[in-house]
Amino acid sequence: MSEATQKPVPVELTAEQKEIIALELEAKRLEVQLKRQQLQGLELEQKERTYHIQDLQARIAERELREKQLQEDRTSQGRTFAQDEAQDKLRWRMCTHKKGGVVTPRDLRVLHTGGNKEQYAVIKHQMINGDIWVLCLRCAKTWKPPVEKDFFFDKAGKNVAPQDGTFNRERFEQTQFEYLQAVNFNTNNSMSTSVQCRFTAIENGKAFDAADKYRELVSQSNLR
Ligand SMILES: [Zn+2]
Repeated sequence: MSEATQKPVPVELTAEQKEIIALELEAKRLEVQLKRQQLQGLELEQKERTYHIQDLQARIAERELREKQLQEDRTSQGRTFAQDEAQDKLRWRMCTHKKGGVVTPRDLRVLHTGGNKEQYAVIKHQMINGDIWVLCLRCAKTWKPPVEKDFFFDKAGKNVAPQDGTFNRERFEQTQFEYLQAVNFNTNNSMSTSVQCRFTAIENGKAFDAADKYRELVSQSNLR
């Protein structure tokens, strides 16, 4: 074996070569650093996207919850109105609207269902326009002149505004008939009155009786 192969002579690098190697190393380091930063950037973007999605999800969930709450409020409100109405109608049907009957501390029913005397347990009140309204003192049902615009119904039979349904003459006339009966209920209670006024409206220079307008305005009220 030659001396040269036995002991490798350390190669002396020139200054220039050393510099090149150093520069190459530096370049590689920078490259790695750049890659790392790119990666970090991507990770941050990814994180940002995740947070953004989470924010959106939270906002949507909150909104859905609000919508649901609103929907539930509406439903339960509707239910309460419907329940009250059904209860009223049942009470009105059960009541004889008459005086008499025996009330005992253990049975107060007659106060709500009416008695069996000839006389009716109603008060009649003359409204400001001359209309007579009748109120049952037992079940609180109020009879008043019906107004045509309250007798429009849609296909499902729901009471709607005139422009959304058709006029039910039969129901209107039935209500009018019941009203006239109530006005004629025999009672010794005296009628109460309001100050009497005639309602007049002027349209196209002509005056006309506006009692109907007044009726429409008070059609949703009762004497309770
Ligand atoms: Zn009654």
